Amino acid sequence: MKKQCLFVAVATLSAVPVLAQGGAIAAPSSQPAAGVIGSSSPAPSRGRSSRPSPPTMRPPFGGLFPIREATPRARHGVRPLWAFHSVHHTQTQLTFLSANRIHFFEQLYVGVLMIVPAFLLGIPQPRWLPILFVQIFSETVQHARLNWTFGRLHRLVVSPAAHAVHHSIDAGEHHSNFGRVFLLWDVLFGTFVPAEERVRRFGVDGMEVPERLTAQLVHPFRVLLGRA
Ligand SMILES: [Zn+2]
Ligand SMILES: [Zn+2]
Repeated sequence: MKKQCLFVAVATLSAVPVLAQGGAIAAPSSQPAAGVIGSSSPAPSRGRSSRPSPPTMRPPFGGLFPIREATPRARHGVRPLWAFHSVHHTQTQLTFLSANRIHFFEQLYVGVLMIVPAFLLGIPQPRWLPILFVQIFSETVQHARLNWTFGRLHRLVVSPAAHAVHHSIDAGEHHSNFGRVFLLWDVLFGTFVPAEERVRRFGVDGMEVPERLTAQLVHPFRVLLGRA
């Protein structure tokens, strides 16, 4: 728990300069800088300061990475968030569709956490949309019942075998391998658990959710009220 809180704090703080850089976007790239040879833009009028405009700064690819990677830990360490996230974890079978069994409220706040800062900071859509596609593809593969470990990349990229450990019914295992695409933070913060043998049982011990939409929608509130 302490480790998870520490991680969330560090990851959030580390996101600030990256995101702030994203907010420093200058003029749109379609407007060439004044004074560039061959530029079709009008010359600066007389009397105006000829101070060169600041260089255009572009947010680095994956600028939202720390926030994206921090949220899974918070979902395990913060009780109300775990109540909603447990809908995903109570699956006793994993398939490539398992990534989609997410309570709509969890989907909503994770989306807000990701998208709103991107809009507020002016990170252009072409920069974060590819990240989203990579994440969706990665999560689909991770939940398939495959024993892939990605070989030498097993400590770096989340494989189906590594994410299976995250879904293990063993509580000591499912609070691990939090990464959504990369395992960098897990390796750094000691929550990486290698997939040494195939996980055979999935779910949350003592928690069962019927395969009905209404049951899954109501489940988090039962957890919060201490009835599940
Ligand atoms: Zn989880
Ligand atoms: Zn999962």
